[in-house]
Amino acid sequence: MDLRLTAEEAAFRDEFREWLAANVPKDWNEWREKPLEESFGYLRAWQQKLHLGGWAAVSWPKEYGGRSATLMEQAIFWEEMARVEAPPMANALGLGIIGPTVIAYGTEAQKARFIPKILSAEEIWCQGFSEPNAGSDLAALQTEARLDGDNYIVNGQKVWTSYGWVSDWCELVVRTDAAVAKHKGLTVLLVDVKSPGVEVRPLRQMTGESEFNEIFFRDARVPVANVLGTVNDGWNVAVSTLMHERGSFGARLIPLFKRSINRLIELSRKVQKNGQPAAKDPILRQKLAQCYAEVEIMRLNQLRAFSRLTATGVPGPEGSIQKLFWSELNQRIQQLGQEMLGPYGQLLGEDSYAVDKGIWSYGYLRSRGNTIEAGTSEVQRNIIGHFVLGLPRSY
Ligand SMILES: Cc1cc2nc3c(=O)[nH]c(=O)nc-3n(C[C@H](O)[C@H](O)[C@H](O)COP(=O)(O)OP(=O)(O)OC[C@H]3O[C@@H](n4cnc5c(N)ncnc54)[C@H](O)[C@@H]3O)c2cc1C
Repeated sequence: MDLRLTAEEAAFRDEFREWLAANVPKDWNEWREKPLEESFGYLRAWQQKLHLGGWAAVSWPKEYGGRSATLMEQAIFWEEMARVEAPPMANALGLGIIGPTVIAYGTEAQKARFIPKILSAEEIWCQGFSEPNAGSDLAALQTEARLDGDNYIVNGQKVWTSYGWVSDWCELVVRTDAAVAKHKGLTVLLVDVKSPGVEVRPLRQMTGESEFNEIFFRDARVPVANVLGTVNDGWNVAVSTLMHERGSFGARLIPLFKRSINRLIELSRKVQKNGQPAAKDPILRQKLAQCYAEVEIMRLNQLRAFSRLTATGVPGPEGSIQKLFWSELNQRIQQLGQEMLGPYGQLLGEDSYAVDKGIWSYGYLRSRGNTIEAGTSEVQRNIIGHFVLGLPRSY
């Protein structure tokens, strides 16, 4: 693989760099530490601005409002966003995983109805997959949908639904046939979260945020026209969403992790350990170097996943390698921040003694969920063992 930028890639980078220089908000630092509930309007406005500039979903096909960007251009996009410390976009799940699934499986009417408002952040989306008794074993889900004329009547409960509290729409996986094998009786519905019979309740996380939620469905009516894909083929539609989640997320994290490492290096110069800057402590130096090398390994793994995707058009099980690697690496990076800071690492942003406005405390707490969300580490190892290494199934 030739890693130098082509003339087209360099032109793409320069165009976006110029746009960012003129448009990236200058006051993000003042908003960054506020609870998501307060900053969400700000993030929505930022996404709208990106959308007007044609930059909200560069990977999407041009006909749906994207730029048909190559995988390398997508990596450049995230690199540039991280370089100027741009805020994240509000409709992260809509843009990253649900929009692409609607483009792949939706009817023309569904694409015309939903895609423009995903791009503009007018409608925020959430992913209703996990249930109290179905997470890793997603196919065991019990939320049921019964056909009644032109509607499905939905009853059941979802949990850990990120962005549920602010969502307008949900990509919901339901059971439409309980008599067949569990993978076969599932269907994906596009559900209006504000409709009668749908109730969202916040779950408080240890970071203090309520990023995710429970959603209860009691006789909620969903038009048949909102079936995504084919009835009882929901497993394939849901797996397509998960593949996007595991396959492409690594690319946008690499520049963020590089920034974290650079911040750790700065931190190691200003924090004292045993009467000298932490940067002089041989064990901490070793761990810093290890994390630095691992971010580079992550970048190379991402390029390998890109090569496969370019050749086959489908994200492969390499996405699981990347998911496993980034989630555990982020925990190592955040752990190292705590080791450097000692007890100060526990202080949150509002405390006047907090270092770097409390980002290390928040980052450490939030990183614990990384090895659970989008599929646990154990499950990723099972996938790698079976589908990448060809080992027999462990369960
Ligand atoms: C921050 C965060 C955000 C999330 N956002 C969403 C969201 O937006 N939408 C959504 O639908 N879900 C979301 N989730 C839920 C997430 O997908 C599930 O938590 C995850 O799939 C694990 O399911 P579970 O919690 O039911 O755990 P379980 O599946 O019950 O697993 C419990 C333990 O058993 C292990 N285990 C399970 N099966 C096996 C096996 N076969 N082999 C070995 N070990 C196994 C697991 O690794 C884990 O350690 C989110 C989770 C987090 C932490």
